[in-house]
Amino acid sequence: MLRKGTSQISFLLAYYRPHTTKIIVALLFMLPSSGISLLFPMLTGGLIDGILKADNPSNLYTVGALFLGLLLVQAAVGYAISITLATITENVIAALRLDLFSHIVRTPLSYLSQKRVGDLTSRLSSDLALIQETFSFSVLQILRQSVFLIGSVVIIVMTSVELTIPILLVTPIIVLIALTIGKKIRKLSTKTQDALAVTSTIVEESLQSVAAVKSFVRELYESARYGEALKENVRLAIKGAKLRALFVTFIIFTVFGGIAAVILYGANLVSVGAITMGELLSFLMYAMFVGGALGSFAELFGQVQKTLGAAVRVSEIMETPTEGLNDAISSPPLVIHNIELRDLYFEYPDREDQQVLQGISLEIPRGARVAFVGQSGAGKSTTASIIQRLYEPTKGEILYNNQPGSDFTLQQIRSAIAIVPQDVVLFGGTIADNILYGNPAATMEMVKEAARNANAYDFIQEFPEGFETLVGERGTKLSGGQRQRIAIARAVLKNPSVLILDEATSSLDAESEGLIQDALQKLMINRTAVIIAHRLSTVRTADLIIVFEKGKIVESGTHKDLIAISGGRYQHWCDLQFLT
Ligand code: ADP
Repeated sequence: MLRKGTSQISFLLAYYRPHTTKIIVALLFMLPSSGISLLFPMLTGGLIDGILKADNPSNLYTVGALFLGLLLVQAAVGYAISITLATITENVIAALRLDLFSHIVRTPLSYLSQKRVGDLTSRLSSDLALIQETFSFSVLQILRQSVFLIGSVVIIVMTSVELTIPILLVTPIIVLIALTIGKKIRKLSTKTQDALAVTSTIVEESLQSVAAVKSFVRELYESARYGEALKENVRLAIKGAKLRALFVTFIIFTVFGGIAAVILYGANLVSVGAITMGELLSFLMYAMFVGGALGSFAELFGQVQKTLGAAVRVSEIMETPTEGLNDAISSPPLVIHNIELRDLYFEYPDREDQQVLQGISLEIPRGARVAFVGQSGAGKSTTASIIQRLYEPTKGEILYNNQPGSDFTLQQIRSAIAIVPQDVVLFGGTIADNILYGNPAATMEMVKEAARNANAYDFIQEFPEGFETLVGERGTKLSGGQRQRIAIARAVLKNPSVLILDEATSSLDAESEGLIQDALQKLMINRTAVIIAHRLSTVRTADLIIVFEKGKIVESGTHKDLIAISGGRYQHWCDLQFLT
C-alpha cells in the first residue's frame, strides 16, 4: 500500500513540477524562518538572566530590539511562504480537478455505469480537498516541526543533560496517552454525528410526507421515534463530553505537573549553580517545543496516511483507460447509410454472469424505420446503445456503410446518430442552451427553426422569458411532453443520418402525444430510424420489425409477415395490445 501510495504521490508531484523553483525558494526561506523560532527561548533566557543580573541595561535593550526584529522578520517570511504555497496548491488542485473531470467524462459507459456517481463526486471533492489541505498546510507543518524537534533536542541536551533525560523519557509517554484519548474522542464524535444524522433523517422523512403522517394519525408515533433517536444522540454526546473532560484534565495535570517538576528539579540545579535561571526558563520552553512537535507529528502522520489513500483513489480514475475520443483531430462528418450487426454478444461488466445479448444479427437499411419490440429486459436498449458504440460488444461485429466500425472514430459515429430518449433530463441552463447542445455552432435562428419543427416553439414562447427560460434542476419545471419536444429540437439541430427513438411508455396527455408524434414523423423524413416501440400504431407502419426475447431475435419482418405466424411472439404481443 505504501509503495503503491508512493508512486501515486509522484503522480501528484508531477502537477507541482511547473512550480518547482517557487517551491524550493519558499522552502529555503522556511528553514531559517523556523530556525529563528528556535532562538526565542534562548533569547528569553538571556533576557531573564540579564534582568536578574541587571549589570548592563543597554545590553538588555539590544537583546529586546533583536528579539522584536526577529519576530517581525519571521512573521513576514512565514506569511509570504504560506501564501505562496497556498496559491500554488490552489492552482494545482484546480488543474487536477479539471483533468480528473475531463478524464471521467471520457471513460467508457461500461466503467461509469459500474461506479456510483456519489463515489466519483466524492473523489473529485473530498479526496482532492484532503490532498489540498495536506499540500498547503501539513507539508509545511511537517518541515517546521522537524526543525523544532531536532533543534530543540540538540539545544536541551547541550543545556543540561541531567534535565534532558527525564524529559525525553516522560514526554513521549504523555504524548502517547494524549493521542490515545484523542483518537477515542474522534471516533465517538463520528458516532455522535451519525446519530445526529439519524435524527435529522426522521425529521426530513416525516416532514416530507407530513400529509401521510397526518392522514394516518401518526404524529405521536413520529414524535416517539424522534425521541428515541435523540436519546441515543444524548447518550453518545455525554460519553464524548466525559472523555473530552478527561482529556483536558489530563493535559492540564501533566503539563502543569511536568512544568512544576522541571522547575523544582531545575531550581535545585540553579541553587547549586549548575545552570542559570534563564537557562532553566529556556529549557522549559524547548521541552514544550519537543512535546508540541511530537504531538503534531502523530496528527500529521495520520493526515499523510489519509492523503496517500486519497491519492490512490484519485489516480485509480486517471489510470482507467478513456474512450478513443480525440478532440484535437476533427474527423470529417459521416453519413451513415446502413448498419449491420453480426452475431453480437454482450454482457454488462458488473453482471458478467448475465448474457444480455446472445448472437444478435440484423441489418438496418438506408432510410428504413426499424422497430425493436419485445418484453422489457429483452435487450432492445442495449442493442441501441451498442449501435451508438456506447458499449463495445464482447463478441461480434458492427458495420456502418458495410465497413467495420473500427474504420470510423467514435466522434464520427456518435455525431451521425441522435437519440430521443424516453425520459429526457435537461441540463441546468436556458432552453436555448439545451437545444444548442445538439449543435453548439448553430445560430439563434436555427434554434428557433428546430423548435418549430419539434412543435416546441409555441409553448416556449408562452414563457415570459421564452428561449432564455432557465430549466434543469434549479429552473422552471417542464412536463414530460415538453421535455421530449426539447429533446426532439435538439435532435433536429444535430441533423443526424440515424435516429434512435425510445418511445414513451408512460401516457402523455393526448395533445402532447399528438404533437410529439407529429414532430417525430417530421424528424424521421429522409433518415434511418431505430424505434424502441411500445405502441402498435408505430410498429404497424415500420418497414422492419425485430422481435427480441431474452437477448435473442426471435422473429423479424413486416407487420404483415409477422402477424401471419400463428402462435408467434409478435402475434401474441399484438393480441395483448388489443386487449389493453
Ligand atoms: P430492454 O430495452 O429490452 O427493456 P435492456 O437492454 O434495457 O432491455 O436490458 C437488458 C438486460 O440488461 C436487462 O436484464 C437489464 O437488467 C440489463 N441491464 C440494462 N442496463 C444495464 C446496465 N447499465 N448495467 C447492468 N445491467 C443492465
